[in-house]
Amino acid sequence: MERSTIVRVHDGLHARPATRFVKLAKGFESDIELIKADRSVSAKSSVKLMLLGVKENEEVTVRATGADEIEAIEALIGYLENPHAGTAEEGGAAKASSAESAPVKPQTPSTPSITSNAGKLRGVAASEGFAIGPAFGFFPAEIKHEHRLLAAEEIPAETARLTRAFATVQYRMDTSLAATDLAESDRGIIAALKDIASDDELTSAAEALVKEGIDAVSAVIGATSRISADFASMDDPYLNARADDVNAVGRQICLALLGQDDAKLDAIPPGAILIADDIGAWDLARAPLKHIAGVICGHGGATSHVAIIARAHGIPAVLGLGRAVHELQQVKAVALDGNSGDVFADPDQRTADRFHEQIGKAETEKQALKAYKDIVPKRADGTVIEIAANLGSLEEIEAAQEAGAMGVGLFRTELLFMRHIHLPSEDLQAETYATLAKAFAPHPVIVRTLDIGGDKPISGVDFPDEENPFLGWRGIRMCLDRPDVFKPQLRALLRAAVHGNIKVMLPMVSDLGEVRATRVLIDECAAELKAEGKEYSNFDLGVMVETPAAVMIAPALAKEVAFFSIGTNDLTQYIMAADRLNPTVAKLNDVTHPAVMAAIELTAKAGVEAGIMVGMCGEAAGRADLIPAFVKMGLTELSMSPSSIQRAKKCVLDLGQVGN
Ligand code: PEP
Ligand code: MG
Repeated sequence: MERSTIVRVHDGLHARPATRFVKLAKGFESDIELIKADRSVSAKSSVKLMLLGVKENEEVTVRATGADEIEAIEALIGYLENPHAGTAEEGGAAKASSAESAPVKPQTPSTPSITSNAGKLRGVAASEGFAIGPAFGFFPAEIKHEHRLLAAEEIPAETARLTRAFATVQYRMDTSLAATDLAESDRGIIAALKDIASDDELTSAAEALVKEGIDAVSAVIGATSRISADFASMDDPYLNARADDVNAVGRQICLALLGQDDAKLDAIPPGAILIADDIGAWDLARAPLKHIAGVICGHGGATSHVAIIARAHGIPAVLGLGRAVHELQQVKAVALDGNSGDVFADPDQRTADRFHEQIGKAETEKQALKAYKDIVPKRADGTVIEIAANLGSLEEIEAAQEAGAMGVGLFRTELLFMRHIHLPSEDLQAETYATLAKAFAPHPVIVRTLDIGGDKPISGVDFPDEENPFLGWRGIRMCLDRPDVFKPQLRALLRAAVHGNIKVMLPMVSDLGEVRATRVLIDECAAELKAEGKEYSNFDLGVMVETPAAVMIAPALAKEVAFFSIGTNDLTQYIMAADRLNPTVAKLNDVTHPAVMAAIELTAKAGVEAGIMVGMCGEAAGRADLIPAFVKMGLTELSMSPSSIQRAKKCVLDLGQVGN
């Protein structure tokens, strides 16, 4: 028996909807197939189903054969036609991310350490503060092919070993899913991975390879790379992202075969120092940050996103140690100075005493600065200087409010995109931006449109291999080329703007045409929303000034936008031609260099003359030693990590008192 229908599942049968469809199908005894054009797959395999690539509004046929075929067809057609009936999810609970679940690949550090004496190393000072504590190494092992050819009599035992490994991984995933304290987003990730780990497509492909005489580890690597390549080659960005999930599952099965376990960030004990060769910004963001006393990394620099997250949470960090970080793999304790970049392996008593004393002093200063939380700092002429927060997720709202943030000067939307298995829906984005707007009203909330590329790739958008990604397809360049990604974000922002305090800014602008093209898209989105009868409101549009080109055309830009926000992290790297992630040129990547300060001053002058607001959201905005110069140049908004807000308020207040 069979029935055809038009698929009404938003974005098609990818990831979560495929899982739901398979779950439904598995509830029936009948053999069930889903047919699209001339291809048919089992409706009980989510991998096969996803690889069928069924999109919204396409016609498919459900064929069932068995005792309960009528009920099965009714239920499955019902789901395809009306996926939301009887459920409360889609866009809510089940959010999984291949970025979250991707295995952390050990990489060869590309840069040597800057200094290395006995027991003392030096890297890039990336987040201020002192820390000392037990070392927690995060060095996931690389999985290698065993390359064993099996004799015929070895095959049954190897097949049994493979079956056990699959069962172990499924059991571990079930156990994790059963945990009551599991965050909903993590539950979504694990459930998606578990679907893959128990999918026939994967198990039988691996088993077939073992039967051909290939050892189990190589068989799993072979099977997962074939399936992940299938996902990677599909013309749907959502499905491309599943390739990482398949690889992540393969890694877990190989580890089980080898009797190994991956280092887990959630096992970090309170007060420990996290030491890693490389760590993704999103891996760090979802680690138990309250437990982490300090971060030391082989990769990264002062303005890399790991540094930004560390600063947002007041965690001292030294990054860019290069290969020297491996010297710390065996140490018991470690001390780090996030102001100088010094790292001490197994510090002696004198060093330990010095660190404890510094930590005590910093704590005293922190307590004293609390008095500035509710201050509204003003220039001598009475102009308010907004001290706002840079945020990357809703979880950081509380810390920003507790610090006394006067709004949000930069909401980086990348994490929102990085934490989902597919591009976040317009509804989810609108909800996120509205939550922010309400949390900080009546202060402004400046949301930056998606700035991916450079050191911030996401799943869901296929990035070309670029020789120089920082000079490549990132920020506004990518967005304008991908209206399918950009327009839902603009529509979500227009909808959230009804709260009255949302402003929007564009990253990586280097040409007036980019602003104009964005306006055309915004108008298009507004017209669509109007036609759909949805509530929306216009917002102020500004640009980040973070390319030398934007500085040079600042007077013209200022006529077209409502505000500037100077992004000193990128501006410094582009003005100085010094990669912000490369520790060997960290000295040149200096915002206080006269060339960078001149660029900031030119931008401020252009903005002030045009009568628009000039702010800054690069890391320099929180530097007490530079704030007086920025205020003097005419900046009226400084946005920074919440941990710097109270000191910045004090700094501006002190300026006012001396009559500047
Ligand atoms: C900047 O470049 O200064 C900035 C704030 O943006 P990001 O660090 O996210 O590139
Ligand atoms: Mg930038």
